[in-house]
Parts: sequence; C-alpha cells; structure tokens
Amino acid sequence: MSSNVMKNYGRIDISFEKGIGSYLYTNDGRRYLDFASGIAVTNLGHSHPSLVAAAKAQSEKLWHVSNLYNIQSQSHLAQRLCEHSFADKVFFCNSGAEAVEAALKLARIHHDNTGNPDRWRVISFRNAFHGRTFATIAAAGQPKHLKGFEPQVRGFDHVDFGDISSIESVITNETAAILLEPVQGEGGIHVASKTFMQDLRDLCTNHGLLLILDEVQCGMGRTGRMWAHEWANITPDIMTVAKALGGGFPIGACMAIEEVASAFIPGTHGSTFGGNPMATTIANAVLDEIQNVHFLENVVANGDFLKERLNLIRSSGSVITEVRGKGLMIGIQCNIPALDMMAALRRKHLLTVIAECNTIRLLPPLTVDRIEIDEACEAIESVVKELGS
Ligand SMILES: *Cc1c(COP(=O)(O)O)cnc(C)c1O
Repeated sequence: MSSNVMKNYGRIDISFEKGIGSYLYTNDGRRYLDFASGIAVTNLGHSHPSLVAAAKAQSEKLWHVSNLYNIQSQSHLAQRLCEHSFADKVFFCNSGAEAVEAALKLARIHHDNTGNPDRWRVISFRNAFHGRTFATIAAAGQPKHLKGFEPQVRGFDHVDFGDISSIESVITNETAAILLEPVQGEGGIHVASKTFMQDLRDLCTNHGLLLILDEVQCGMGRTGRMWAHEWANITPDIMTVAKALGGGFPIGACMAIEEVASAFIPGTHGSTFGGNPMATTIANAVLDEIQNVHFLENVVANGDFLKERLNLIRSSGSVITEVRGKGLMIGIQCNIPALDMMAALRRKHLLTVIAECNTIRLLPPLTVDRIEIDEACEAIESVVKELGS
C-alpha cells in the first residue's frame, strides 16, 4: 500500500472510509473514537451536516477563481474574522506554514516601509513548531527538523518559552518581531502564562516590535476562547490561523492590524489558491457553528470535565505523570514512550496524537459530548492499569 508515496511520514496501518461526528470507521466496519481531529483540524467532528451542505451547494456553483477578481465569500469571511478578533485585515493562504511565512514577510516589509529596514530579525521560542518550510523550520529552530536541510534561513534568535528576562537580552536594533504559540502544540502542550503574555505585549510595545501569535493550532475555539490570547487580555499585531479554519478543507490566514497590514500592496505577496470560493464558503460555515451561543462555554466545561477525569486517572496509577492544557487542547505526559501509550489506546479504539517523546495530545472535536469523554477516559484508565502493573 502507498508504495509510490514518499516515506516522510511514519504511518499507522489503518485506513478510514468515513467519519461521523467524533467517530471514524474503517472499511471493515471497525469504529474508532477520534480524539485527534486530524491534528486539531476537524474541530466540528466529521461530516458535520451544515459543513456538508455548504460544501455541496458551493461545489455545484463555483470552485475556484483567482485573486485577480473579487471573491464575495472571501471578503465576507475576512469581515467576520476581523469582527471577532483584534485584526483589521486578512490575507488568505492554504496552510499553517504559509500563514507563518506571510506573517514573517509582513513583519519585515512593515519595518522596511516605516523607515527601519535594519529591523529584520525575529525572536522565537525553543520547542516551538511553525511548519515545515525553510523559514518556519528556522523559526522553530528544532534540530530534528533542521537536520539535513542546512544552511538554515537566517534571522531567528531563540529563547526559552516563558522566560521574559532572556528575551530582553537578545533584543537588538535589528529585532523586528517576536513569534509565539500561546499554547505550544507539537512541543508538548505548554500553555504560556497570562503574565508572560502580558509582559511580552509590553516588551513589544516598548521596543517597537511586532507581536506575532501563531494560533494555527490553539485558535478557532480550541482553548475555549475564539483565540487563545484572549485568556491573557492582550492582542497581537499579527496572528496566524489555519488547521481548524476550514473544518478539514485546507485554508490558512494571516491577520493583522491596519497599520501593519497596509504594507502588503499589489505585487508584494500572493497565493494561487488562497481564499478561493470553496475554501472560504466552508470556513464561513465553520464560523457559523463556532459562533453559536454556548459553543465556547461548552468547550470550557468539557475541557474542565476531561482534565478532572484525567487527573483522577493520573493519581490512581503511575503511568501518567502530568496533565496539561487549556480547553480541549490537552497533553498527557507519561513515564512510557508516547508511541507505546498511543498504540495501547488504539487497541482500545481511541485515537490520539503524539506531542513529544513522552507526551500524547488529546484534541477531540469541540463538539464532543460527555458520553464520548467517558468512553475515552475508560480507555485511558484501562490502559493505565495494564501498563502500570
Ligand atoms: C500545524 C502547525 C503549523 C503548520 O501548519 P501546516 O498546515 O502543517 O503548514 C504551524 N504552526 C502551528 C502552531 C501548528 O500547530
């Protein structure tokens, strides 16, 4: 199977034929509870009726036109994203890495336009993840992602996540921006504290730096707020969004305040597919759902409920050493390899995602219910008993 596909993924030998809500079904009819949601992508579950209806209707009208024309669903989506955030303008692309690339380019051209062309460097954080392009692997600076791809893109200064004092010491008159995931996802579910986020905002303001928040994974309601930075009562200058924005249809966005966004004039940046009618129509349908009353409240309540259950399981055995996270973005640190934990859970028909070598991520659909959370916790509890004895 898949022998003509490049081998850059370690694949699990299961293939799914359909998905309904929180469940995935294999072609031989086995059912799995999906607490991965792609990787925080299918936040409304699988085959959500209103997303299916939106996709069907649009597919019969118009799939694609280029950005040489006005695209109504794109303008509408941009307007709604701005109404529900700090931003004034949006650039659409197709993925998280592209959104971060756009953010980095925007930061540079903004300083260039405002008489500070020497401000081109970006401070980013150890253990981060921003995508797999040349610039984004350099931004994250993880040796395992850079190995073999040198020389790396220049201009990134790395500091420890959460350490405000070390940032001040690396700021120079060449610094343009600070790039942060409010909740590190791939890096193991580490939540930036409220005071750290606030200090970072002040530091950027005081030094004339742009604050870029990468909300590709933690945005779109995942933490129980539309954007994770809302928990800290701060706003960035630029934000990147992707993963859940299209509910499973590829779309990304780079959002910014007017003063910064205005540097992108015709010819500076672009994308063939970015914001096309199919993608933006589906993303509009995703927003309709997230903006329903009580949607985000439910994420907070279910996240608290799930974390409480997990902490009980942790204290009843030795396998789980820590439970971290915010809303329905949860990391379970184990004293066994994450891959072993995930395989054991898969045997109980529960799907999870690796975060780092000893931490697994639970990223259930935001539409998950208490019965499904119970089912997941029972699987985790029985695996903890098996592996802990
Ligand atoms: C997944 C992710 C990306 C990269 O997104 P792609 O769509 O895979 O390019 C960037 N930043 C964060 C925080 C992510 O979780």
